[in-house]
Amino acid sequence: MKTPVARPLDGKTALVTGGSRGIGRAIAVELASAGAFTYINYVRSEEAARETLKIVEDQGGKGSLLRFDVSDFDAVNDAIQGITKETGRIDILINNAGVTLSGLFVRTKPEAWNSVMDVNLTGAFNCCRAVARYMIKQRWGRIVNMTSVVALSGNAGQVCYSASKAGIIGLTKSLARELGSRNICINAVAPGFIETDMTGSMEGKSRGEALDQIPLGRAGMPDDVAGVVGFLVSGKADYITGQVMHINGGLYM
Ligand code: NAP
Repeated sequence: MKTPVARPLDGKTALVTGGSRGIGRAIAVELASAGAFTYINYVRSEEAARETLKIVEDQGGKGSLLRFDVSDFDAVNDAIQGITKETGRIDILINNAGVTLSGLFVRTKPEAWNSVMDVNLTGAFNCCRAVARYMIKQRWGRIVNMTSVVALSGNAGQVCYSASKAGIIGLTKSLARELGSRNICINAVAPGFIETDMTGSMEGKSRGEALDQIPLGRAGMPDDVAGVVGFLVSGKADYITGQVMHINGGLYM
């Protein structure tokens, strides 16, 4: 009989917000393949979330679906409490859930601004806030927050989105300073142009223009991001906190 090979995240519990599709799906598969019991969060796409879980299980991983809206403080708290009841712990949080919004600033309504902030920035706050006390007690935790290249470069037509993603960087750095003494590492990843539903609706011309600016000459794939997230939550990154990792094919340096 073969002895099972130990995996780097065996015994850990992870939560990936927005794990139903795109980058979140690839991250959920990455963490579960590394041995973490992985909760796959979604808000609308139950079928897609089930598909993520199927891929996780087909690759020998374990996980579970967890529906909640990251912008709902109470719902997030209930969900995290549920995780700790089921598994006794929460070790890894990936704040990946996000929405985008493009349009001229002078036409942007306050409701639109709020809807992006509620998910992208308040959602990350809600999830960090809910896991922090458990991670502090455990004296171990890893959090990865999803920002974006446009948080650093800016982008005309994406004021709300880039402001929400710039906020993520401040949250990441301050929290890394506050929780470092408890062995909790908090980092951000800043993807460039990654092929997902979010970028799929870009029209031919602007798509071509975006690709032209990438020195590596191609769009990124969700796995390009997932590999870096997998590294950041692994033992190989135990001395990395408060950093922003750029995954953009050279689009922004
Ligand atoms: P995507 O394909 O549009 O997927 C978005 C995910 O977020 C879905 O799983 C969605 O769940 C979830 N979500 C949205 N609102 C939510 C809410 N209120 N509560 C819980 N989950 C919610 O996006 P993606 O391209 O994979 O992007 C993932 C992250 O990377 C986002 O934060 C995005 O801003 C960031 N990012 C993406 C790119 C890119 O080029 N694609 C570049 C830089 C940064 P449902 O399926 O249930 O709707």
